Amino acid sequence: MPDYDPKTIEAKWQKHWEEEKSFQVEDDPAKPKYYLLEMFPYPSGRIHMGHVRNYTIGDALARFKWMQGFNVLHPIGWDSFGMPAENAAIQNKSHPDTWTHANIKTMTEQIKRLGLSYDWDREIATCEPEYYQWNQWCFLKFLERGLVYRKNSEVNWCESCNTVLANEQVVDGLCWRCDNEVVPKLQEGWFFKITDYADRLLEGLQDLEQGWPEQVLTMQSNWIGKSTGAEVDFQIKDSKDSIQVFTTRPDTLYGATFMVLAPEHPLTHSLSRGTQQEKPIDAFIKKVKSQDKIARTSEGGEKLGVFTGAYAINPLNGETIPVWAANFVLMDYGTGAIMSVPAHDHRDFEFAKKYKLPIRVVILPPDGNTNADDLKEAMTELGPMTQSGKFDGLEGDEAKQKVCEYLQSNNIGKATVQFRLRDWGVSRQRYWGTPVPIIFCGKCGTVPVPYKDLPVVLPLDAKLGDKGQSPLKSLDSFINVPCPKCQAPAKRETDTLDTFICSSWYFDRFISPHNDKEPFSKKSVQYWMPVDQYIGGIEHAILHLLYSRFFHHVFRDMGLIETKEPFAHLLTQGMVIKDGAKMSKSKGNVVDPDHIIDRYGADTARLFILFAAPPTKQLEWSDQGVEGGSRFLKRVWRLFDEMVNFLKIIPVDDMDTQGDLPKELKELRRQIHTAIKRVTEDIDKRMQFNTAIAAIMEFVNYLYAFREWWDKHIEPPILGCILLREAMDTLILLLSPFAPHIAEEMWERMGHTGTTHQAAWPEYNETFLKADEIEIVVQVNGKVRQKLLVSESIDEASLKAKSLDDPRIQEWTDGKEVKKVIVVPKKLVNIVVK
Ligand SMILES: [Zn+2]
Ligand SMILES: [Zn+2]
Repeated sequence: MPDYDPKTIEAKWQKHWEEEKSFQVEDDPAKPKYYLLEMFPYPSGRIHMGHVRNYTIGDALARFKWMQGFNVLHPIGWDSFGMPAENAAIQNKSHPDTWTHANIKTMTEQIKRLGLSYDWDREIATCEPEYYQWNQWCFLKFLERGLVYRKNSEVNWCESCNTVLANEQVVDGLCWRCDNEVVPKLQEGWFFKITDYADRLLEGLQDLEQGWPEQVLTMQSNWIGKSTGAEVDFQIKDSKDSIQVFTTRPDTLYGATFMVLAPEHPLTHSLSRGTQQEKPIDAFIKKVKSQDKIARTSEGGEKLGVFTGAYAINPLNGETIPVWAANFVLMDYGTGAIMSVPAHDHRDFEFAKKYKLPIRVVILPPDGNTNADDLKEAMTELGPMTQSGKFDGLEGDEAKQKVCEYLQSNNIGKATVQFRLRDWGVSRQRYWGTPVPIIFCGKCGTVPVPYKDLPVVLPLDAKLGDKGQSPLKSLDSFINVPCPKCQAPAKRETDTLDTFICSSWYFDRFISPHNDKEPFSKKSVQYWMPVDQYIGGIEHAILHLLYSRFFHHVFRDMGLIETKEPFAHLLTQGMVIKDGAKMSKSKGNVVDPDHIIDRYGADTARLFILFAAPPTKQLEWSDQGVEGGSRFLKRVWRLFDEMVNFLKIIPVDDMDTQGDLPKELKELRRQIHTAIKRVTEDIDKRMQFNTAIAAIMEFVNYLYAFREWWDKHIEPPILGCILLREAMDTLILLLSPFAPHIAEEMWERMGHTGTTHQAAWPEYNETFLKADEIEIVVQVNGKVRQKLLVSESIDEASLKAKSLDDPRIQEWTDGKEVKKVIVVPKKLVNIVVK
């Protein structure tokens, strides 16, 4: 037989899987289901190592689940709308559609070379009308439910992408896609009312505690940002106006020594009228307008303020306090106004010091010193209230609650809840996306496109490249339509939908991908959902994973889905790095998956990636590591090749290997069962593919050693032959999730029919895991007093302890001093007493 030849083997089995549709799957309520999903790719051009890692982790698990008897749904598709296609097309004077489909073709070929167990009949691409018509359907259904609205608002604008971004898509003030600065811009657009689901999205995280990484749960929870506190009204002195503020610390109300308004707050302007502060305030408003919002609110940003000339009255102690305007308060967060408690808030403290505003300690510090002049910094911890009238001494939650009750009963405020989460802006002023199914009519206003007229097809003849506005705006054949209600000439909406909508429900579509009556079949979704294991990058911790949960909760309210959450388990795989940095073209440290496959084969690439690090940890690319993976597979092949002709004629089930065996065969049996146990538990319980592969490697090393003993036996015992065949079959099956092509080839050559993923995953027997026992003689003062059966691998300390603890030995040592214990390994223990 020739040497290990991955090229031939891999081509052969990939063809086989494809022709046989090996991984095609149907709903089958008689079988337990397992829905395994990797985040579907954007067709950017070529697959990179990050993809390979993502898909390889998923594939190993999918194959393992097949072998465990599950009906496994493992689909793949393309998140194929989005800006890069449009930008690339403008650059290459091509069309996004052409560019996208060419990329899908290339990447499909690349993915197929990895030997992944996808059900290709379920492939979807979100840029096809068959898919995006259901985005439009969702938009209209959400609209009916009051979850979609249009408003003119200050939006996040990315100059380089020429479009609006949702809050979730602005990361540290930069565009999530292009890292360029995001600026505010007034723009009319569509919003999804995700805030209606803020509480449920937060509560739902509790159901995910067992299955999701803690880090992701924390990030989502912080993003939703629920805070409980109080709304308090501060009356303006000599005016009918009042200022409403939200505070999470009602227990510090007595320490509010001034108030601050956002410069954009209408009262900032009006309160200053007729005072000496008119001019300074006008100048200040103008100045702040040109400042970047992110810089305004950042911790280190310069805090600027101007007195408005007006005073407010602290509703608890009746004190008159000045009202200021400052750059760090924003109009679109909370009420656009705050009460300042400088003694107990860092930002207020800094501001008060700068502008020489009063500071009052109202939470008792541990040292009891309430002199504000001695404060070096704000004291933000909870503590007993002080200088707070009748509330003195109250502390923490009780204090907050008592103050809230007082506010409520005196009609000056109430306990309330605030969220950081904002509604999801979904309008995009770009071309390559789902057209918003809305028509504007001069008479009827905003008219939804009737369901029967869906899809609103994205025209492929739009002229691309006009900066700042949708190319659809210049396409008369698209814009001009009769109003569906009154038939008068009307105009289509030219915005497209955020592509994150495409990925918010694609996992439901995979369940019935070719359904042309509805987005997905309710019955099938009931069988397959939730996704049992979802695998993707941590960069989606908020964006995609929050939007998907929102869609799922809405679908549930619509009666389309029964499960509470879409993804039961989430694995966020670590990055692939090389020379200490993430692989990227600009750093010149990219390793092309195709080159690795050409040189070593897909099985080696897969094995290296799974062996080099646990899935959630960073993976450092190493050429030696890849070499090592290749060497290991050759070693497996050699062992197999030397024995296959003899082993394949051994009947598998004929003989009973359960009973007593010679020492060497007993050890072989123990090694088989130990390997099964380790690999099974590493995959199933811990998803630690690296240690599972290490266990297989140790098993192979053992088999090489065993063969040396075996070769010395001219007439091998028949039980040994059977066990050896069992060992080889087990090795093949344990290896198959990781290196499926070589496993498939060996499985066939061993005479099995069917592919490895159809074979049952081997099971271990607990009783065969124990190492052989040996007899140890125990002496007291040189006389044999006991014989102990112990494990062959027992260490010296345990053997000593076991001997001294033995009741019969204690009869001889009782009341005497043990002077010395001599251990002769595997033979005897001698206890010297006096
Ligand atoms: Zn951008
Ligand atoms: Zn009309």
